[in-house]
Amino acid sequence: MAGNEPDTAEDIDDDEDDWMKYANAGFGETDYSLWDDVEPVEEDEAHQQEVAMQLGTHVEEIPRAPSPAGHKHLVRQGTCNACLGRVGGKRMYGQTLEEAGVGVRASVLERDTHLVNAREEQPLCPFCENLFEEVDLLADIIHDAIEPYDVSRLQLGARFPKDQIEQEEKLRKRLGAGGSEALKPALVDEIGKRLKDRLGDIKLVNDKPDVLALIDVLTLTVELDVRAVYVYGRYRKLERGIPQTRWPCRACKGRGCERCDFTGLQYQKSVQDLIGNPMLELFEGVEHAFHGMGREDIDVRCLGRGRPFVLEIKEPKRRSFNAEKLAEIINEAAKGSVEVSSIRPSTRSEVVRIKDTPAEKSYTIRFTLEPMNEAEYAVLTAPVDMTKEDVQNRSKKRRRQRRGDKNADRTKPLETTIEVAPTGPSQDELKAMKKPELVALAEQHGLKKTGTKDDLIQRIVEALPPAPATFDLPDDETILKVVEGLNGIKLAQRTPERVAHRRSDLIRKRTVFEAHSPFIEVNEDGQREIEFTLRCESGTYVKETVHGDSGRTQPSVAALIKAKCNVVWLDVGDIHAD
Ligand SMILES: [Zn+2]
Ligand SMILES: [Zn+2]
Repeated sequence: MAGNEPDTAEDIDDDEDDWMKYANAGFGETDYSLWDDVEPVEEDEAHQQEVAMQLGTHVEEIPRAPSPAGHKHLVRQGTCNACLGRVGGKRMYGQTLEEAGVGVRASVLERDTHLVNAREEQPLCPFCENLFEEVDLLADIIHDAIEPYDVSRLQLGARFPKDQIEQEEKLRKRLGAGGSEALKPALVDEIGKRLKDRLGDIKLVNDKPDVLALIDVLTLTVELDVRAVYVYGRYRKLERGIPQTRWPCRACKGRGCERCDFTGLQYQKSVQDLIGNPMLELFEGVEHAFHGMGREDIDVRCLGRGRPFVLEIKEPKRRSFNAEKLAEIINEAAKGSVEVSSIRPSTRSEVVRIKDTPAEKSYTIRFTLEPMNEAEYAVLTAPVDMTKEDVQNRSKKRRRQRRGDKNADRTKPLETTIEVAPTGPSQDELKAMKKPELVALAEQHGLKKTGTKDDLIQRIVEALPPAPATFDLPDDETILKVVEGLNGIKLAQRTPERVAHRRSDLIRKRTVFEAHSPFIEVNEDGQREIEFTLRCESGTYVKETVHGDSGRTQPSVAALIKAKCNVVWLDVGDIHAD
């Protein structure tokens, strides 16, 4: 409706101005009448116009194409052939704009030979400002611009100043035939026609292009929007100490400095670079972006079938690839740090899927034991403050938190540290000591050195209470039973402090679906090392499930076996998705 709205009073005034202009320009001296070809001319023009205005209908003041008078008016104004063909309303199937326009002009000149030089007298086409004369040039510029790129789908577009579009629209509505094509699509279409023969296998499309060529009509230049190439795969990280994505150097923020050997990187290797750099070279792109289905910590390996990812190569010159060959090249360059498989072409929408898929994962973890005392046990099993449970998890209806809630005290840590006074030897140990040793110990702690051996012992015990008794380390059988008992257990996990800077401090419920294959080995230092595999819900903090994170994760292996658990390493075994 918007395009066919009745003219406003202002438009009618403009029309009247035009009328006056032409009348004053001497046209009135010829036998030309603005109305000569309009069918029955009503006598009472003024009256009719008034009625029309009251009714709010369109007022035909200047003849419009496709009437002969309308054509004549277009020619006289210096309309170019392409625009005559476009707005003249005489274009036949299969005709180019130019051909149709030539026909319109010829029919006008047949009757009005004096208009033969109209284009010389009005050299600027009022519709296109002579843009159609640049069609060959623009086609040529586009052809050259896309030359270095592999393109199978090309989309053309044009950028016009807004007022130019509006003016043309207004003029076309007033003088052109109804249903005439607008300037922008017509120009783009013409350029496409010129290009077609030169493009070979390249298809001109209206969606999902490899390259969008955007013509700027003001500067007569072309800007290319080269769409990224997406490659799907799975990676196995076989070496610890490699982050998933590149980390800018902390000291120089990526600019490059002595500390990072001018690489700008905090870690020289990353999964992203190991996979992306050889691809960047192959695709002749500008940069790469890495989209993983979750991530593992730097010191965690990723084994099994590997973690799904999509690598995005921006502004690639090459687009096609052989998946097997590509995997080979990446794996060779990565020299065993990382290994890729299942390589295939991907899309932008798969990136969203990859990022949104909550994946269950299998992990293998290894830890050692250390005795735990009552106080430490109390911390590990202190009641969890469930007021901080993740509300998003609790109720879908209450997804959005109110602003006030967001600022609620999330970062204040739970009371996790218990003041432990300096500790000394036990009474039995003190009794076993010789008097000079006791004197020395007293002196060392600034205590009086006088009195009997018993006086000294009593004084030392008061100042330095013996370390609290620790629980006996559990036997192998207990450990194995506890680990296997994790099957199906529900954890309450408060955001670990190590990630609190980038995650909201909330308590989330996570499930351990399976815990299996535990075994115990004695290492070189004579310590027992326990290893087991567990499969758990996406988002589970696994190390915390073992060591308890000062009571932030409950229950934990540490709390269940009443021994401190020190994680030696953690591996991601499999990501159960795709
Ligand atoms: Zn034109
Ligand atoms: Zn640096």
